[in-house]
Amino acid sequence: MTTTAITALVLGEAGFTEGTVSVDGNRITAVGLSPEDRAALQRHAAEHVDAVGCWLIPGLIDAHAHGYATLLRGTENSMPLELWALYTVMYGRAYDAAAMRAAILLGAAERIRAGITGWIDHSPMVHLGEAALAAHAESGLRVGWAPFLHDISDYALMELELDRLAGNPPPLNLDAYAQRFGEFAQTAKPDRVSVLLGPNAPQRCSASAWALWRDLRDRYGVAVHTHLMETHAQAAVRALAWWVGRRNGAPGPAG
Ligand SMILES: [Zn+2]
Repeated sequence: MTTTAITALVLGEAGFTEGTVSVDGNRITAVGLSPEDRAALQRHAAEHVDAVGCWLIPGLIDAHAHGYATLLRGTENSMPLELWALYTVMYGRAYDAAAMRAAILLGAAERIRAGITGWIDHSPMVHLGEAALAAHAESGLRVGWAPFLHDISDYALMELELDRLAGNPPPLNLDAYAQRFGEFAQTAKPDRVSVLLGPNAPQRCSASAWALWRDLRDRYGVAVHTHLMETHAQAAVRALAWWVGRRNGAPGPAG
């Protein structure tokens, strides 16, 4: 196996220290911090990368992103989330497997360039799940793919009537979702690409969607990734609705 030695500022317990890290294949096999150890590792390596002055750190984690959206940059980006979503839901309907693969691999290349080696893709496009999982496996990055689960729109939560416009989620078919989730859970490669439960947000799930969320968690033992309130407007409207409901005798969140 070819050994590569990299000399750089190495992040350790005491902060950054100039050091040499020896790598065999995809494994770190030695770290030398003293001048003698560093020289020995450099001597024995087939290749020496001189990165003096640069930081050598573990890969960064991008804890929340929507992989499909890489191809939507520059579209309506200056709008508030709720209005922007009306456009992106429509754009999203034009996606096919090839577009999903391109979005994920372009996003992966950008992440590698930025030092990111792991990320969570919270995906509304459950119907393109196979293509998304294949692209994530192809990228080489560590990925948690969390397919959306929801059946209440932000517009309903904010008491805006948009019944005939895009933006309302299709009715949730509990059995179909459960079957699809089971297929995804078996397709994923847990050493690198894992499937997470991806409820869009607690307030975007009806009681039956919450029950499905709990059942799938128990059945597959998977982690959960979700949004919370995403804008001041959502939080303000829901806080007001909660206060009015309490005044009228409705149970609170703990009721
Ligand atoms: Zn998000």
